[in-house]
Amino acid sequence: MHRMTLGDFELMAFSDGTYPLDGGAFFGVIPKIMWSRKVQANEQNYVSTGLNSLLIRTGKQTILVETGMGNKLSDRMRKFYGQPAKLLDNLSAAGIAPEDIDIVINSHLHFDHCGWNTVRDKNGKIVTTFPRAKYYAPEGEWQYARKPSERDAISYIPENYDPLVESGQMTLLKGGEEIVPGISVETFRGHTASMQAIIVRSPSGAKARSLPDPDGTAKAVPFPNHVAPTACYISDLMPTTAHIDITWGMSFDLYPLETIESKKRYYARSIPEKWLTVFTHDPKTPWAYIERDELGKMVAKEPK
Ligand SMILES: [Zn+2]
Repeated sequence: MHRMTLGDFELMAFSDGTYPLDGGAFFGVIPKIMWSRKVQANEQNYVSTGLNSLLIRTGKQTILVETGMGNKLSDRMRKFYGQPAKLLDNLSAAGIAPEDIDIVINSHLHFDHCGWNTVRDKNGKIVTTFPRAKYYAPEGEWQYARKPSERDAISYIPENYDPLVESGQMTLLKGGEEIVPGISVETFRGHTASMQAIIVRSPSGAKARSLPDPDGTAKAVPFPNHVAPTACYISDLMPTTAHIDITWGMSFDLYPLETIESKKRYYARSIPEKWLTVFTHDPKTPWAYIERDELGKMVAKEPK
């Protein structure tokens, strides 16, 4: 399990499992001869795709960013994607129960990002998975999800959010809000029109330090003195470490040219300020620092 501290905050990465995605679709216009150097496809051209959630303990609240694919897929969708449904088990293995979560934040409302927002109870009724939690999602995304285009209608499952909006348990965000001190959202267009990154900035500005973890690999991570240690759940703007080059976008992106502009805007801050980037779909590397090497190429470096 991945775990580190960021100033006063504790970060943990949890997976809902992995699922198969067509490698061509995952890498958009990038030829297979190039992406297959980074990621291996099986004989059907599927690549293994992760479903990473970020858990933040601020000392006051426990916050879950993104809730994976969940367990409510239709039989047809299950044929394509399986339905790993491991998030609750993985949280439980770390001693975290659904009742412990105070806040849930969704970057956008595609089914593989908000699936565990809700579950069906034994009578088939949709109920909240995290009963005490306040939920947050982008307002523009919810508006769009009510009337999506034919191209991406399959990506939206209203049971994941409509009951929460109706009950008042989900608050819709314009982008730019600070949800609790140190946790804010910012819109990055490209994948969808209203997708929001979740920016985690420990208010103390203290030096980041890692908790000793069971295999003893964690070490302190130095930050520039003037910048509070920052992590960012950048979601589908950079779904994996293989997508960090600005032109390596997914074919699912509705606005691919804006994906490129948004990546540039992200790097303009995240590289000089040494942000920890959290990768929503990387099956192996849930977070890393993105740097530019001597040749100007983007490289992802995992915290040691
Ligand atoms: Zn998406």
